[in-house]
Amino acid sequence: MSKESYNFFKKLLATPSPTGYEQKIQKVVKTRMSQYADSIKTDLHGNVIVSLNEKAPRKIMLAGHCDQIGFMVRYIADNGFIYLTPLGGIDLKVLQGSTVLIHNRKGKVKGLIGKTPIHHEKPEDRKKLTVNWDSVWVDIGAKDRKQAEKKVELGDPVTFELNHIDFDNGMIGGPGIDNKAGVFVVMEALRLCKGKKLNFGVYAVSTVQEEVGLRGAGTSSYGINPEVGIAVDVTHASDNPGYTKKNEAPVVLGNGPVLHRGPSINPVVDEYLQKTAKKNKIKYQISPGGRLLPNDTSAIQVARAGVACGCISIPNRYMHTQVEMCSFKDLQDAAKLIAKFIQDLPKSANFTPR
Ligand SMILES: [Zn+2]
Repeated sequence: MSKESYNFFKKLLATPSPTGYEQKIQKVVKTRMSQYADSIKTDLHGNVIVSLNEKAPRKIMLAGHCDQIGFMVRYIADNGFIYLTPLGGIDLKVLQGSTVLIHNRKGKVKGLIGKTPIHHEKPEDRKKLTVNWDSVWVDIGAKDRKQAEKKVELGDPVTFELNHIDFDNGMIGGPGIDNKAGVFVVMEALRLCKGKKLNFGVYAVSTVQEEVGLRGAGTSSYGINPEVGIAVDVTHASDNPGYTKKNEAPVVLGNGPVLHRGPSINPVVDEYLQKTAKKNKIKYQISPGGRLLPNDTSAIQVARAGVACGCISIPNRYMHTQVEMCSFKDLQDAAKLIAKFIQDLPKSANFTPR
C-alpha cells in the first residue's frame, strides 16, 4: 500500500470526530477523496457520500462510520473543574487518569481527568469501583469558573487525546480505531475501483452518529437507495487474555478481515464475498452471530424495501477504550476484498435469497 494511503489513515486517527461533531473528519475525507471520486456530496445529516460510476443503474453502498465515542461538557463548576456527559458507549472504568482534548470553537484545550489519590481513599473504596459521571471531572488548570469559561463552553465536544502508537507487526494502538478503520477501508476500496470497468455504481459513505443508534447509515441508505450494502466496522478480537475460547468466535489481529454470518447478512452477498476472498487468496475469518449486528449493517438492511447486506469487520482489541488496537494489514486486506468483490460482480448478479 502506498504511503499516501497510510498517511490518510493516520490523519483520520489524528482528527477528532465525537458523535454529532463529525465535520472535521468529513473534511479530511473529502479532501483526500477528491482525486479519486466522480463526485462527493454531503447530505443534510452530515454523511459524506463519495461516488464512482454514477451512471450505472445498480448501486453498491459501502459504509464506514466516522464518529468516535467521546463526551460533551455538561457543567463547569465554580472552582473551574469541568464535568462531562458521554457521547456513545464510554467505559467509565477506564477514564480516571486519562488525558483529554476539549474541542472549542477555535481549536483544542488539553485537560486531565483527575482522581482522588489512592492514599486518601477509604480502605473499602480502594477495592470497589465507585465511578459515576459526577465523580469524573476534567482539570484544565483553571483557577475558577470564569477562567475556565474563557476557553470552554457548555456543549463543547471532548475526546481522548488523539495519540497513536505504531507497534511491531503492523499493529497500531490508540483511541478511535472504532471506526476510523472502517472509513479508511471503504474509501480505500473505492480508490482501488477507480479506472476499472464496473457493472455497478459505487457509493462509499463516511456515515455519522453510528454510536448513538446507526443513524447516518439509515439516512444515507435511504438517500442513495442501493441494491447492495457493505458495512465496515471493527469487531472484538478474542486473541487476548480477556477472553475464554468457547464463548467467542476465534478472531485474531492480523489474520484477515472478519466476515459476519447471521440474520443481518444476505446469503448471496456472503457467498460472493467468500468466493472472492478464496479466488484472490485473501485470508479471512468468520464470525457467526444469531442477533442483529450492532452496526450500520442492520440499518442499511431494512432501508426502504430492503438492501442485500454484507458486513466486513476489522479485528480490534480493547474496544471503546482509549487504547484500542488493530493490525494495518487487516485494513488493507479488507479494502482489497471489497474492491475485488465489486469489480468481479457480473451484470447478471441476483441477490434475492433463493
Ligand atoms: Zn463502530
